[in-house]
Amino acid sequence: MAILNSTLAFLVLAFAFFFCYVMSSGSYDYFQFVQQWPPTNCRVRIKRPCSNPRPLQYFTIHGLWPSNYSNPTMPSNCNGTQFKMQNLFPYLRSRLKMSWPDVESGNDTKFWEGEWNKHGTCSERILNIMQYFQRSQAMWKSHNITEILKNASIVPHPTQTWKYSDIVSPIKSATGRTPLLRCKQDKSTQLLHEVVFCYDYNAIKQIDCNRTAGCGKQRDISFQ
Ligand code: 5GP
Repeated sequence: MAILNSTLAFLVLAFAFFFCYVMSSGSYDYFQFVQQWPPTNCRVRIKRPCSNPRPLQYFTIHGLWPSNYSNPTMPSNCNGTQFKMQNLFPYLRSRLKMSWPDVESGNDTKFWEGEWNKHGTCSERILNIMQYFQRSQAMWKSHNITEILKNASIVPHPTQTWKYSDIVSPIKSATGRTPLLRCKQDKSTQLLHEVVFCYDYNAIKQIDCNRTAGCGKQRDISFQ
C-alpha cells in the first residue's frame, strides 16, 4: 500500500512539473501574423494620441503570435531569452523600422521588445529572436495587403463602407488562404483595424484563419 501511495504521489508530482513546464515554455497550435492599419490605432486612442499626427498609410506589423485554438490570446509571457537589440542584425533593424514601426509612440525597439517578450518567447523552440523577426519580415513582404485592397478599389474613404466578405475576398484570392479581419469600434462605426494571416506550427505554411472571431460579420466595415 505504501509503495502504491508513493508511486501515485510521484506520478502526480511528475505531471504537475510537466504541466508547469509546458505552460511556462508555451504550448500553441498555430501562429497569428497580425498587421494593423495605423490610422485606426491612432483614431481610437483617445487618452494618449499617437505621437505622429500623420499616421502611416500602409499596413504594418503588430506581431507574430503563437496561439491556441481553444484560447487565441494564449500563450503569453513565457520563460525564455529576453529581448536585446544586439540580437538583431543592423540590416534587419532597418527593414523592421519600415515594416514593424511603433505607430503609437514611435519607440520601435520598445515595441519589438514587448512583442518578443510577450509572444516570441512562447515559440522560441521553433524561432529564436533573430528568426522570429526575420520570418515576420518575410511574411510582411510576401503579401502587400495595402496593394491587394487598392487593386480591388478598397481604399481609405470617410463614408464608404464594405461588407466583411468584400474585404476578405480579394485577400483570399491573392494569398490562397482565408484571413481574419479585426475591427475597432468608434462610436457607432466599425473600423477595419487588423488583418490576420494564420500560419502552421512551424510558421512556414500559411493556413486558413477560420477558427477565431473577428469583426462583426453582419455589420458594415469602414476603412478610413
Ligand atoms: P499585444 O500585446 O497583444 O501584442 O497587443 C496589444 C497591445 O499592443 C495593445 O496594448 C496595443 O495598444 C499595443 N500596440 C499595438 N500597436 C502598437 C504600436 O504600434 N506600438 C505600441 N507601443 N503598442 C502597440
